[in-house]
Amino acid sequence: MGVPTVGCTCAVCKSPDPRDRRLRPSVLVRWKERPSEPGSAERPRAVLVDTGPDFRQQALRAGIAHLDAVLYTHSHADHILGMDDLRPLSFISHHAGGSLPLYASIETASVLERVYDYTFSPNATYATRARVEIRPLGERTMIHHVEFIQVPVLHGQMEVAGFRFGDTAYLTDVSEIPETSFALLEGVQTLVLPALRHKPHPTHATVEQAVGWSRRIGARQTWLTHIAHELGHEETNRMLPENVRMAWDGLEIPVRLHRAGGEGRRA
Ligand SMILES: [Zn+2]
Ligand SMILES: [Zn+2]
Repeated sequence: MGVPTVGCTCAVCKSPDPRDRRLRPSVLVRWKERPSEPGSAERPRAVLVDTGPDFRQQALRAGIAHLDAVLYTHSHADHILGMDDLRPLSFISHHAGGSLPLYASIETASVLERVYDYTFSPNATYATRARVEIRPLGERTMIHHVEFIQVPVLHGQMEVAGFRFGDTAYLTDVSEIPETSFALLEGVQTLVLPALRHKPHPTHATVEQAVGWSRRIGARQTWLTHIAHELGHEETNRMLPENVRMAWDGLEIPVRLHRAGGEGRRA
C-alpha cells in the first residue's frame, strides 16, 4: 500500500525518518557491458523488475534514461500500474530500432493486455502509446549477456516470479518458497526478501519467515522489502540478525553479475 498508508496516522506513517517512507517495490539492475570489439565504449545496461504505481517518481529519482528490458513478477496493481510511464523510455528504444521488451508470464501478460488495451490491442491506434512488446518469461532470460533466472514462488494461491541474477536474488511477494526454488537460490550472497509485518498474512511473508529463509539460503546479506506500516525501520532493524537489514527506498547494492560465457563483473 506504500507508507504512509492512505488514511493512517500510526507512528510509522507519521515517522520523520525518511526510511519509513516507502513507495511500492521495484528494483533496477544496472551494469556496464564491456565491448566485444577492443577500443569501443562500454555500454550502460539497465533492467527493471516491475513497474508499480510509483514508477515515474522512482525513475526520476534513479535518473533512468534508458532501459533494456522490464521483467514482471506478477500482475497485481502494486507491480504493474506504472507501465504507461515507460512511454518516454520506450520511445528512445523505438528510435534506436526496437520496442522495449517486457518479459511476463502468460497470466501477467493477459492482465497487462487487458489493463492497457489501448497499448497492446492489435487495433491500437493511439499515436503515443508505449512502444513495448510483451515476451514470454522463460526459466532463463538473457539480456545483453546477463542471465536472469526465474525463481517461482507462491504468493497465496498464485505462482509469481522472483529473479536471480549473478550472486543476487530478488523476491517480493512470497508466502512460500517451494523446495525446487530453494535449489535455484543456492550460493546466493545478496538476497532481497519480503517482510510485510510480524502478524501472519495469507499471501505475504512475515519478518520471522523471511529471517528463517535467509538463514536457510545462507546469503551473506539479506535486505527486507515489501514492508507495511506495521514495521518501523529503526526498531525492526534492532531486532534482526546482523546480516538481515530493512531495505529503504533508493538503497543501492553492489551485485556480482556473470557475463554468459565466463568472466564475472561488478555492477
Ligand atoms: Zn502481489
Ligand atoms: Zn506486491
